[in-house]
Amino acid sequence: MPPRKKNANAAENKLAKQIAAKKITDQKSPVKKKKSAKKSAMKPSTNIMGWKPGVPKEKPKGRVYDGPLCVNSKTKKSDLIIFGTGGVPHSANPQSHPSAIRRLAELGLGVYEMEFVHGVRIRPETCEEVKAVQADTGIRVTAHGPYYINLYSMEEEKLEASRVRVLDTARALEACCGDGACFHPGFYQKRDPVEVHAFMTKQIGELADILEKEGCPIRLDPETTGKGSQFGSLDELCEMGDVLSEKNISITIDFAHIHARSGGVNNTYDEFAAQLEMIKNKLGSGALASMHIHLSGIAYTEKGEAHHLELDESDMNYPDLFRALIDFGASGRVVCESPALEYDALIMQKSYRKLNGS
Ligand SMILES: [Zn+2]
Repeated sequence: MPPRKKNANAAENKLAKQIAAKKITDQKSPVKKKKSAKKSAMKPSTNIMGWKPGVPKEKPKGRVYDGPLCVNSKTKKSDLIIFGTGGVPHSANPQSHPSAIRRLAELGLGVYEMEFVHGVRIRPETCEEVKAVQADTGIRVTAHGPYYINLYSMEEEKLEASRVRVLDTARALEACCGDGACFHPGFYQKRDPVEVHAFMTKQIGELADILEKEGCPIRLDPETTGKGSQFGSLDELCEMGDVLSEKNISITIDFAHIHARSGGVNNTYDEFAAQLEMIKNKLGSGALASMHIHLSGIAYTEKGEAHHLELDESDMNYPDLFRALIDFGASGRVVCESPALEYDALIMQKSYRKLNGS
């Protein structure tokens, strides 16, 4: 169908021009990128954007994608990894879950992470609608639990509330027919990391048991966190996954968080490959077959994550990450958490497809 092809080419050219204008290329010198990230790290832009590190009240709105639909070329071989956004795309109208899924489908993206970060609030009718739109479009749905979770809280009440928030995230996701309930497990609060690890493992194991008893099929995916004060290094989560290997638990691997947590390390092909190797060894090759990945640009200080950045403002070496994922035959979902959401998700997908030979 020549007219369609023409449109697709025009769409591609438009994105190519946009990318060129923004000077984003996969070959961009990592040294140059590092410089800009260091600048951000030295001078955190917390006040400029009104978004302080820690629990963000509101994410700064990044670039809004207003280009053509289905902008990325179709793949020659099927994508093992699909891309999408954490939260409603800026260009979705209205800003609702069902409309987010429709918009992602229009753009040719493949996954939507519902953000329950300020509480699990979704009406049963909306769940039904999400389910229907999902079936109609083929977009996959995951969820991010509330920020206010601490499964190592000293206060019984807060601990119980945290447990309920994890469970409710999974239950809401089940009602929407999704899979992969991501959450940040909690904080060390200056306690012995070994003790915290044992406690968190017990808690998360129990939560998986409760869901199993309810017949809820949703997998719990605790996330690698961005700050040294938060429980959730890759080692800790892999260790936990190993102990809980009989349960319906995996991990959300946020490569930007791991990079920030280490103060700028973990950003080369070899380092990404070592991380994937660790996941394979501890969690089994099945974990590489259904990955739940978070990715964005990130600003960091010596304490770890400061805040997320748009890809081209950061030093995040996503092309080498994609090379490693391709070499390991990894499949799953990449949820873009950059402030530019769908804009950067499209950049990521384009980069992945190019490297994947499609
Ligand atoms: Zn997260």
